[in-house]
Amino acid sequence: MRDKKYKSRVIKRDFLKTLAWKRWRYTLIDYYENRDCITNKPLRKGFNVHHLDMREEHYTILKEERFRPLNADTHDCVHFLFRYYKKDPFIIDRLKEILDLMVQYNED
Ligand SMILES: [Zn+2]
Repeated sequence: MRDKKYKSRVIKRDFLKTLAWKRWRYTLIDYYENRDCITNKPLRKGFNVHHLDMREEHYTILKEERFRPLNADTHDCVHFLFRYYKKDPFIIDRLKEILDLMVQYNED
């Protein structure tokens, strides 16, 4: 199992080095108008093109709807939340409650 995961990681990593992938990144940036899909802010240096389908066997299917460009901090946040979300989708509700309270408490 561990060996299989390692192999999968290597296959994915190698794909990210290909010319096809590097060209694809530019196509996708244009498609999403150079915006981070969560914050809606311009993409910054070091942004990521996030695979929505992270399974190795689908990793090379290059269709716009299967990807989202995200700035590095947004990308980290998505992967962090996904670890919990896939087991407990209500984390989003609890996060929203906290954010809403923060807005409320910090209004001038
Ligand atoms: Zn990602």
